[in-house]
Amino acid sequence: MYDYLIVGAGLFGSICAYELNKIGKKCLIIDKRSHIGGNVYTENIDGINVHKYGPHIFHTNDKEIWNYINQFAEFNNYIHNITTISNGKMYNMPFNMNTFNQIWNTITPLEAKKKIEEQIKKFGVKTPNNLEEQALTLVGKDIYELLIKGYTEKQWGCKATELPAFIIKRLPIRFTYNNNYFSDRYQGIPLGGYTQIFEKLTQNIEVKLNTDYLKNSSYFNSIAKQIIYSGKIDEFFDYHFGALEYRSLSFKTEQLEIENFQGNAQVNYNDVSIPFTRIVEHKHFEFGTQNFTIITKEFPQNWDKTKEAFYPINNALNQNLFKKYEELTKTQSQVYFGGRLGEYRYYDMHQVIGSALTYLKKLKTNI
Ligand code: UDP
Repeated sequence: MYDYLIVGAGLFGSICAYELNKIGKKCLIIDKRSHIGGNVYTENIDGINVHKYGPHIFHTNDKEIWNYINQFAEFNNYIHNITTISNGKMYNMPFNMNTFNQIWNTITPLEAKKKIEEQIKKFGVKTPNNLEEQALTLVGKDIYELLIKGYTEKQWGCKATELPAFIIKRLPIRFTYNNNYFSDRYQGIPLGGYTQIFEKLTQNIEVKLNTDYLKNSSYFNSIAKQIIYSGKIDEFFDYHFGALEYRSLSFKTEQLEIENFQGNAQVNYNDVSIPFTRIVEHKHFEFGTQNFTIITKEFPQNWDKTKEAFYPINNALNQNLFKKYEELTKTQSQVYFGGRLGEYRYYDMHQVIGSALTYLKKLKTNI
C-alpha cells in the first residue's frame, strides 16, 4: 500500500513525490509517457539538450522558487531574447525600443511613446474584452499587425477577438533598449538540460512509465491512500460535462550539418502563410559550439482526444466549464488535482512549482 500515488512525472508530480518521500511517505509515480519530466523533458542528442516539448526557459521573481530549483541543477546565465520575422523583416521581441526603432525609426522613448499613444487613441477602447482589444490598447495597430495577430491566430487556431486578454499580458512592453523576453529577476537554463532535475527529484521513488492511470483507475485507487493527479481534469471525469478546449502542437526536429542555423535560440514567424509559429535552435540555450545544430519547428494543431493537450484555452466558456469540474473534485476526497492540466491553467514552470509548494505546505500542516 502506498501513501501517495502520483499520476504524472512532470514538475507538479515530481516535486510532490520528492517532498512527500522526504517526510517518510511511501510514493509511487506513474506516467503514461515513456520518460519522466513531462513537457519539461530534454533529450541529450550528441551533446545538445533538445527541448522536446517546446522551449523552456526558467524564470521567476520568487527567490524561494529560484533557490528550490537550484537544488537540482546549476543554471547558466542565458537570457531569452526572441526575434520575430514578419513580412520579410526581423524584429526584436518583446516590444521594446529596438522594436520601435525597427518599425518607426524612433530613437528616444518620448518619440516611441508618442507613436504608440497616437495609435491607442485612434483605437479608442478603454476596457479591452479580448486579446485583440488588449493588444490594440497596449501597443497599437502597427505592432499588433506586424508581430501579434498572425502569430496569435496560428498559435490558437481562432480569431484574436475570441481569446482572453490576459494571454498578451504575458509579454512586457519596455521603453528601454532591452530585449530580455522576461522581466523576472532570476532566469537561466540548467547546464546539462532539465531531465537531470527530474532524475534527482525521483531518485528514491518508485516510478512506473508507460502506465496509464485512467485505463486502470480502480486498481490504482486501491493501492494508495491518496492520489495526486496532474493529468487533464476533464478526462479524469470521463468528460462528464463535455471536453475542455486545449491547443495541441506537433514538432518537427532536424539535425543540420551546419554550425549555426539562425543565430538565436528562438525565432518566431508571424506570417500566416508559414504554417509553424517558431523555430527553436536548441544549442543556443547552452551556448553550444558543436559543428552541427538541431532545430525544431513548432506547428500548432487542433486538439482532439487522440492528441496531446499542450495549452489550456482559458476563455470564458472553458472557465465556466472548468468551474463545474472543480465542483466535482469535491466528491473525490482521495484525489488532489494539480499542475497545468489538473488546474487547467496556462502555468509557466515557476508557477507550477509555486502551486506544488503551496499545496505541500498545507498538506504537511494537516499530516
Ligand atoms: N505572441 C505574439 N507574437 C509573438 C509571441 C507571442 O503575438 O511573437 C502572443 C501569442 O498570443 C502567444 C502569447 O503571446 O500565445 C504568449 O506568448 P509566449 O511566448 O509566452 O508563449 P509560450 O512560449 O508559452 O507558447
